[in-house]
Amino acid sequence: MNRDTISEVLHFIDGERIASSDSAVLDNIEPATGEALGTIAAGSSADVEKAVTAANRALPRWSQLSADTRSSHLEQLAAAIEENLDELATAESIDNGKPISASRNIDIPRAAANLRFFAGAARYQRDEAYRTRLPGDDLWNVAVKKPIGVAGCISPWNLPLYLFTWKIAPALAAGCTVVGKPSELTPATADLLARAAQKVDFPAGVLNIVQGAGSTAGASIVAHPGIPALSFTGGTATGASIATIAAPMFKKTLLELGGKNPTVVFADADLDEAIEGATSAAFSNQGQICLCGSRILVEKSIQEEFTGRLVERASAMKIGDPLEESTEVGALVSAAHRDKVERCLSVATQEGGTILCGGERAAPSGRCSEGYFLSPAVVTGLESNARTNQEEIFGPVATIIGFDDETSAIEIANDVRYGLAASVWTRDIDRALRVSEKLEAGTVWVNCWMKRDLRTVFGGLKDSGLGREGGTESLAFFQEATNVCIRFDSKG
Ligand code: NAD
Repeated sequence: MNRDTISEVLHFIDGERIASSDSAVLDNIEPATGEALGTIAAGSSADVEKAVTAANRALPRWSQLSADTRSSHLEQLAAAIEENLDELATAESIDNGKPISASRNIDIPRAAANLRFFAGAARYQRDEAYRTRLPGDDLWNVAVKKPIGVAGCISPWNLPLYLFTWKIAPALAAGCTVVGKPSELTPATADLLARAAQKVDFPAGVLNIVQGAGSTAGASIVAHPGIPALSFTGGTATGASIATIAAPMFKKTLLELGGKNPTVVFADADLDEAIEGATSAAFSNQGQICLCGSRILVEKSIQEEFTGRLVERASAMKIGDPLEESTEVGALVSAAHRDKVERCLSVATQEGGTILCGGERAAPSGRCSEGYFLSPAVVTGLESNARTNQEEIFGPVATIIGFDDETSAIEIANDVRYGLAASVWTRDIDRALRVSEKLEAGTVWVNCWMKRDLRTVFGGLKDSGLGREGGTESLAFFQEATNVCIRFDSKG
């Protein structure tokens, strides 16, 4: 891929890639090298205003198209992503620091799948009607679904195009027009999506992308009175601050926030599979997935063996240039984030924890020698209420906590403010079902992790969020329903 393609990231407003009204830019840094990649248009309220104006202008026509026609547009965009898979995957890995194997096999295919899935879901969305018989009246109640209007879609840096499309696809499929904002840390693939949209003649003004910082571009989207629905994925503190602005404006708000997810391993689990699963859950994407299992709860009778084998497996992970096919652990997204993870590891030792492996700066030599690499860390010896076991670190750090029995496993698993996801490893199906129902989590995986079916509900309990995405839930979020009650003469 030619790096020049992503050296100047622009807004995409009304079908045109444009600079900010005041020409302001931010620097974009490559995490694997620490070097400047180029600039990003730094959006302001004026740019958001332009985007909302374009989105409003495009709304009547887009919302009145048949679901089939809208779906065809989304499928063309999906096809354009698939045709450019290599370029997009390389750009994602350069911009984010994630291994190219992840970008090529997970992130970018999933971005195309999101568009295709919601294109299909819109075609098959069902309407509700109830026949109501009252004394003297015969009625049909029909719920008429309408797109809510201009949708604000704000996404984070950890799965950039994957999560950006997870929001814009259902919004567009539901008939909304969009003002979206990717993270300022990973803006490149959204800009490439804008080019793909131009290539397939995606109708102007339907998808608008404002680039830039959360405190300016993001905050302007949140506060804009012309945006009645906000779909946000990011940190819990950001979600809380968005809610304080959106709630008094009665905006429909969907919040997908942080997690501190347990991986619960019972002694009867297939140990080989559980170790492989716990390793992926802890360290995939350098531990920077909201669904990562950063607390590994292990039944005490197997704790010693499990810990030894996990440490061996984590220590053997190949840290390398994200652009190399064999790399398992790439760079963390930024120097600031690497520093934050290092501070969390210092807290772990101050609290009395033992770092059994990892947590060291581990930049590979050559091109990546100044990159933001940390080796996967396994920490033991901390109680459940330690900060290290309570706060989201969002990096390659997993703790191991022993438990005595099913009851204490559930107690420890639920002993956090978050409730996003969990995985349970056991060969006892009764226990799997019992435990899954008692875990406070929006998603529970049994003997697997991160397996996704886009039809399923997805979201967080407690401080992990508000509302549900996935399948018809996502479409419904971007729609308002009006019940039309029709009295008719059934007697003739
Ligand atoms: P973040 O909250 O800092 O930023 C997320 C997005 O919000 C970015 O685009 C950012 O520019 C924007 N933003 C920041 N401040 C804003 C404001 N005041 N108003 C409007 N927009 C604002 O999060 P991050 O660091 O990019 O992502 C990491 C976090 O995201 C982690 O906590 C992780 O758990 C969470 N996450 C959750 C899910 C999920 O599905 N629940 C998925 C991925 C990541």
